[in-house]
Amino acid sequence: MQQPKALDDLRRMSARVGGNILLVQGAGGNSSVKLDDVLWVKASGAWLAEANEKEMFVPVELTGARAALAAGNEKMPVASGFGEITLRASIETSLHALMPHPVVLHVHAVNTIAWAALENVEGELATRLQGLAWQQLPYRRPGLPLSQVVAEHTGKQRADVLILGNHGLLVGAETCAAAEELVAEVERRLELKPRTAPAGDLRALHRICSGSAYRPASDEICHGLATNPVNFAIATTGSLYPDHVVFLGPALPSLAVDGDLGQLVAETVPPPVALLVPGAGAIIRQDASAGAEAMLVCLGLVVARIPEAAQLRTLPAHEEQALLNWDAERYRQQLMKARSA
Ligand SMILES: [Zn+2]
Repeated sequence: MQQPKALDDLRRMSARVGGNILLVQGAGGNSSVKLDDVLWVKASGAWLAEANEKEMFVPVELTGARAALAAGNEKMPVASGFGEITLRASIETSLHALMPHPVVLHVHAVNTIAWAALENVEGELATRLQGLAWQQLPYRRPGLPLSQVVAEHTGKQRADVLILGNHGLLVGAETCAAAEELVAEVERRLELKPRTAPAGDLRALHRICSGSAYRPASDEICHGLATNPVNFAIATTGSLYPDHVVFLGPALPSLAVDGDLGQLVAETVPPPVALLVPGAGAIIRQDASAGAEAMLVCLGLVVARIPEAAQLRTLPAHEEQALLNWDAERYRQQLMKARSA
């Protein structure tokens, strides 16, 4: 199959963006390019960071995808003439089809997410993003509901930058280089200084985990969620964005440093993927996928950037349930399990 330069550009740009933990964690984020009537979009469950090594772009019929979206159908039609396609297009493909730009890039950029999880920040965002064609959208579940709200907003007024409430950043541009630069520009303007946190108390964490199915988290960023009391308060308030719920479950449970892990696990159905021990650090299930641990790192990076006095906006319980019961997400979860097995 001929590989147009635009597709090569997309691979290289995706790998660079995917390799930056401040922009993409695990299988989060996605990218696309439109070539004639084909939308090449990242496959569900694939890691952008691996875009140079693995085939991960799925050809979707652009006109067909837009028609499906208009008819309220979440299933995107795969384009023919490209051999057998076994990958499934990203859950967020409809967003890419909807945007008029040749290149669309969606990231879970940590500064943007920190802002997107706060109430009453419209004025501050307007100041910081002045001069860009941007819009702020309310939270909707990824997939059809999110696409519908994007359609509603972009139908009225062109936008190159969309701040997706309690979710992340979506940009559209003429080229891969321009999309990558636009993401960098938004993150620069929205930059928040992360709070520092004491190192994790590994001795205490190992003692708590001893004989259990848990282990201390590998990344110091995760421990900061529990060793700084402000971070701990924010992290245990509720779920801030969808991938957290999908990979780690709603919010994040906690256990006192002298608490009984066995009892907490026995009483929690399903058992928590990860939990925080205030003052000591974060622990995670030994069988957690690499994707789940990446989400815990993401939470650490986001929470450290949320100002102490800010008014948080967490996902309501019915939105958490909608994410946990969603077929497309279960498919992505299976891929993540298979990947880490
Ligand atoms: Zn997303």
